[in-house]
Amino acid sequence: MEFSQFNVNTLMEITSRPDLVFVRGQGSWLEDHAGKRYLDFVQGWAVNTLGHCAPEMQKALLDQSKLLMNPSPAFYNVPSIELAQRLTGASDFDRVFFANSGGEANEGAIKLARKWGQVHKKGAYKIITMNHGFHGRTLATMSASGKPGWDKMFAPQVEGFPKAELNDLESVRKLIDDQTVAIMLEPVQGEGGVLPATREFMQGLRKLADEHKLLFIVDEVQTGMGRTGKMFAYQHSDVVPDIMTLAKGIGGGVPLAALLARQEVCVFAHGDQGGTYNGNPLTTAVGVAVFDALVAPGFMESVNARAKQLSEGLLALSAKYGMKGERGVGLLRALIMDRDDGPAIVDAARNLTPNGLLLNAPRPNLLRFMPALNVTAEEIDTMLTQLDGLIAQVRKA
Ligand SMILES: *Cc1c(COP(=O)(O)O)cnc(C)c1O
Repeated sequence: MEFSQFNVNTLMEITSRPDLVFVRGQGSWLEDHAGKRYLDFVQGWAVNTLGHCAPEMQKALLDQSKLLMNPSPAFYNVPSIELAQRLTGASDFDRVFFANSGGEANEGAIKLARKWGQVHKKGAYKIITMNHGFHGRTLATMSASGKPGWDKMFAPQVEGFPKAELNDLESVRKLIDDQTVAIMLEPVQGEGGVLPATREFMQGLRKLADEHKLLFIVDEVQTGMGRTGKMFAYQHSDVVPDIMTLAKGIGGGVPLAALLARQEVCVFAHGDQGGTYNGNPLTTAVGVAVFDALVAPGFMESVNARAKQLSEGLLALSAKYGMKGERGVGLLRALIMDRDDGPAIVDAARNLTPNGLLLNAPRPNLLRFMPALNVTAEEIDTMLTQLDGLIAQVRKA
């Protein structure tokens, strides 16, 4: 089929998309309308934990679709209970509220913190967030995000999100007043350019929160579910947050998200929170299958081995081309270039023949890598070889 045969103009224009229509995927590979294959190191933006169309997920979807798809969140269902048990068992949290997207889970975290402020802190409502942070595209989560310009885009913004600097504890301390109820951040800023919060910063935030009776909220929408080589990224820092949000990897590609909190923080009254599709058995059954794959013997060891391979390969490329190194945690990594080649490399990678390569440049001088967590050693080698050629090609042009 030709691209021109698709009437793409019936879709609302929200971003610039290449003239490609993807029709199938398997593991780390995607195939477009013309039958061209692409090695995928974007994976739905760090979403497809087990790659495209994982057999475990297909089975969970098919089995559950024969049993029950949506009895309404006003009733209990089996997969949501099973997934909540697994998530609380693997983390420091006691209770789970399921949602459908990262933005929605973060809205829930913001509401829970504000409610906790009403109950325990005389109506304190301000949540300190980080510059360059990203928490979603709803009005409140855009206000919570620290993307330059986002506060004015759909003015008036939701107020009460003063911004501190990542890894600068003093900048957080300075913002605390008696209206402050929480501190919220990503353990690794994803959209901001794969910038990890340091262990000292995370521990310092926990201390600050304790001193000032604040909630410590981690947005693990991108970093959670094994992406960083541990089940949750906060576990690298030996801290216990009060609230955590998950999305992206938790559903392995189906819309699923979660808000987790420690028992003391669970202050929602009946009617405070809800949502038509929340915790539906179809997506939570997939969540169970994804979770079980992550905790299978050897899985996380393999994530860490692939992460080491990717990190070393990127460092070698950086040295070869005089770039500025690489950074990241687990299989969320970035190559830091010495010039703004990112968009040109992303385009050239997609246009490679016979097989294309899908990469992402969250900043012009940065390439981000977020492969499936079950990516193979050969696939990483293939990507690194292609990337080597691409850098040479773009720099010659
Ligand atoms: C992607 C992302 C979100 C938003 O998730 P959606 O599912 O797109 O609403 C929020 N926080 C972080 C850290 C993210 O990476």
